[in-house]
Amino acid sequence: MTIPVLEDALARYWGYTTFRPLQRDAMDAVLQGRDSLLVLPTGGGKSLCFQAPAMVRPGLAVVISPLISLMKDQVDTLVGNGVPAGLYNSSLTSAEKSAMVAGLRQGRFRLLYVSPERLVGEGSEGFLSLLAACNVSFVAVDEAHCISQWGHDFRPEYRQLARLRQLLPGISIHAYTATATARVRRDIATQLGLQDPVEHVGSFDRPNLVYRVLPRAVLKRQLLDVLSRHRQEAGIIYCTSRREVDALAAWLTAEGTPALPYHAGLGEAERSRNQDAFLSERVDVIVATVAFGMGIDRSNVRFVVHAGSPRSVEHYQQESGRAGRDGLEAECLLIYSAADFMKWRVMLESNGELNEANTTLLRQMERYAASVGCRHQHLSEYFGDRYGKDGCGACDYCLDELETAASPVVLARQILSCVVRVGQRFGAMHVASVLRGHASDQVVARAHDKLSTFGLLPNASVAEVRGYIQQLTALGLLRLTDDAYAVLALTAKGLGLLKDEHSVPGLTLARQRPPRKDVPRLRSRVETESWQDVDRALFDRLRAVRLETARERGVPPYVIFHDATLREMARIRPTSIDALLSVKGIGARKADDLGDIFLAAIRDHRPA
Ligand code: ADP
Ligand code: ZN
Repeated sequence: MTIPVLEDALARYWGYTTFRPLQRDAMDAVLQGRDSLLVLPTGGGKSLCFQAPAMVRPGLAVVISPLISLMKDQVDTLVGNGVPAGLYNSSLTSAEKSAMVAGLRQGRFRLLYVSPERLVGEGSEGFLSLLAACNVSFVAVDEAHCISQWGHDFRPEYRQLARLRQLLPGISIHAYTATATARVRRDIATQLGLQDPVEHVGSFDRPNLVYRVLPRAVLKRQLLDVLSRHRQEAGIIYCTSRREVDALAAWLTAEGTPALPYHAGLGEAERSRNQDAFLSERVDVIVATVAFGMGIDRSNVRFVVHAGSPRSVEHYQQESGRAGRDGLEAECLLIYSAADFMKWRVMLESNGELNEANTTLLRQMERYAASVGCRHQHLSEYFGDRYGKDGCGACDYCLDELETAASPVVLARQILSCVVRVGQRFGAMHVASVLRGHASDQVVARAHDKLSTFGLLPNASVAEVRGYIQQLTALGLLRLTDDAYAVLALTAKGLGLLKDEHSVPGLTLARQRPPRKDVPRLRSRVETESWQDVDRALFDRLRAVRLETARERGVPPYVIFHDATLREMARIRPTSIDALLSVKGIGARKADDLGDIFLAAIRDHRPA
């Protein structure tokens, strides 16, 4: 086999003509055989950074990956691109194992995916001596944060990788992860024994993601609203309890949006069936606890909703980051309530984990939820990036969907004083009724319709008032007591604001701007550009063709082509194999294999 240079390999096998940020540098480190560590956010294109050099450096590249399901997808995709890749793990039958061993002996592979225990675990001596005869070019450790207890997904079997260096002396080791903190980075380098590694840390901002935050009001209505923006598109809805997962999945299905549940309480078989249905596009919406996610490689997830707050910004970034891995527009919505944070505190306490670190992380998450400002900027700065842009054009704040209260201090005092007037013995629902002047049975029974705060906010909706209450709680002016029925009470800070007429802290409160029929919704730049000149009907047709082809071949649709590739086809409408080759994501092998099917679909499509 001839050895192409990097650019040729990229074009020939992947159909890409440009590098994403840091890819070139990361690939150079591999080509030079220098230990390296690459930190890029999910979807940043890490895999290519070891896959492409594997086609350029002579020998066999060994990739360590934690999840067997993920390995299979990656290898299927590579083989579909014409890259000689294989895997070796416990899922293989003994016949498949012998075939792999024979193939390795004959030097038929350029990339080999293995699980950590297969490589360095007990009884791996035989396998290592086989590798010794295979001219290993380098080792790539994917999801390298799994080696660190400071990461979000520690896996004990990754610890054994500390032996790699001695077992494969003289071979460069390259680590890849999406987890950014400096502590995890140090941990990876030390444990893998990286020698003077080149470190590349990418920008964590994902400009294609539109971030929104909503205080939880009527959850079902809020969900229907999101779904209405994403008809026929894939999404994940995260809930904090299994009960809520089951209830919402059933309700959505009844509402006409087929949705499947996923949580640790389901049997193994049902879980993998539901995950498989999502990956193979038999269902587009999954309602899940955070147990669902690792190993989700469906790249066209267009929305991720959290129907409850995660316990840290790190978790939020990780989970919401499963949206839009193909670089196309996607939405990340956080629906939070003050009760979420209380639940987390109770849970951490009962697990004996309510230490300073976890309390701080939770507090920072609360701050993200309650803040009124650019979400991209907030997240970037949280992860230690400077955010250069003035307005991202891709968050609720910058898209002008929020309306800040004109006199936030007056508003805060009205709400705080109402909480005091009802004796700090009622929850948000009741306080909202009193403020809105709603004479509910409860309100009348307690004579709260006689209070001076009754009807102070006559024109506000329930959602709006509850939203302000959530924000005041997250800002530390109100708190929920941990009685059996959580009731609202003032914090010392809240009391200070109420008493001291002169104190005016930098307080901002906002509500969701009511949609207006005459003013169209603003769109993010990525959304506008990625649909520019795209024939939507043709795009839908191509998706259907992809699905049919995927079913025939028994692979998930994204293994055939990504959405970005289909959109480009529906934009430029190629009529020949040559023209097809100019589309991003189509290399020679793919054009050869799938070109006729897709060209036929394009030819037969009559523009509306
Ligand atoms: P990560 O492993 O960092 O989460 P992936 O390697 O899965 O990201 O890449 C995300 C997507 O970006 C994939 O669909 C991949 O094919 C695509 N991609 C990677 N590099 C490039 C590139 N240079 N040009 C265009 N698309 C790319
Ligand atoms: Zn913004």
